[in-house]
Amino acid sequence: MLLDSFGRPVRDLRISVTDRCNFRCTYCMPYDEYEWVDRSEILTFEEIARLARLFMRLGVDKIRLTGGEPLLRRDLEVLVARLSALEGLKDLCLTTNGSLLAEKIPALAAAGLRRINVSIDSLDPETYQRITRRNDLVKVLEGLFAAQKHGIAPIKINTVIVRGLNDGEILNLVQFSRTHGFGVRFIEFMDAGNANQWKSEKMVSAREILEIVQACGPLRELGREQGSAPSVQYQFADGSGDIGIIASVTEPFCSSCNRVRLTADGKLVTCLFSAQGHDLKRMLRAGAGDEEIDALLRSVWQGRGDRYSVERLQAMQSAGGYEAAGRKKIEMISLGG
Ligand code: SAM
Repeated sequence: MLLDSFGRPVRDLRISVTDRCNFRCTYCMPYDEYEWVDRSEILTFEEIARLARLFMRLGVDKIRLTGGEPLLRRDLEVLVARLSALEGLKDLCLTTNGSLLAEKIPALAAAGLRRINVSIDSLDPETYQRITRRNDLVKVLEGLFAAQKHGIAPIKINTVIVRGLNDGEILNLVQFSRTHGFGVRFIEFMDAGNANQWKSEKMVSAREILEIVQACGPLRELGREQGSAPSVQYQFADGSGDIGIIASVTEPFCSSCNRVRLTADGKLVTCLFSAQGHDLKRMLRAGAGDEEIDALLRSVWQGRGDRYSVERLQAMQSAGGYEAAGRKKIEMISLGG
């Protein structure tokens, strides 16, 4: 089995299919002006499918499509059909803001998409608009229910909690998810990218989130799915619904991280907080053969020593503290979370 320098296998490939997004979430993409990747630089579906197949030779059996906003990528269902036909792929998932879901879900479901995560940070239209700088909550909820109607399951709601912005929304989201049969995963606000003015005080910790959720009823901890998923799962003791918490900041899970990322312009990135990636597109377009690309993927993974969240926590707990602005990172809009 291929292992990195900390003995971690590679299992989960996250493919960003576009860097474009129709939202401007303040914690993710706060820029008014952003230089989008030129269309000619974006990987074609053929290139993505070829790389996916090569990653699967290394051990990948799970693929998540993301962005930018992945539903902005034209004919995404064509890619979904190709990927879902890959022999040995156990799981194909999509992370979306949901604004285009109602119109796109019939084709995506027909192409083989089985499960999705939809990012919803508030059920209050004003708060939703303040966070996303778009007024699309109604459309997003329509998309959510359309997906349910098309048999997509599970459907998980992803919510980033930012202190003073949407920490008052936690119980609403739990109740909504329980009532309608969705999962919900609360994400600690992370210092992803370079422009979201992250400060530890704005982050609501997993422990605080749990305390709030327990007002709805006692919870039972189920652990991480497959032992390596980012979220720790909890179930209400009466069996009515479950929640997950992704605590990248206060309870880092680098030691079990088996995720690898591919940016829309073909960079291989080994950590969400990486400063740069390895250019696979150049190799593809220079005519590299499968064995040459395979060798590069193996050597990058074997040399991988990322443990950013562990180092961040150590710095946060040290006398000097942690300065998010001190290290340049790839933007979340390119990496896709
Ligand atoms: N546009 C899609 C969406 O909205 O789900 C996919 C891309 S988005 C970058 C993927 C996920 O990253 C979303 O759930 C988003 O909330 C999360 N995210 C973005 N910036 C974050 C941050 N600073 N901290 C925690 N999560 C973040």
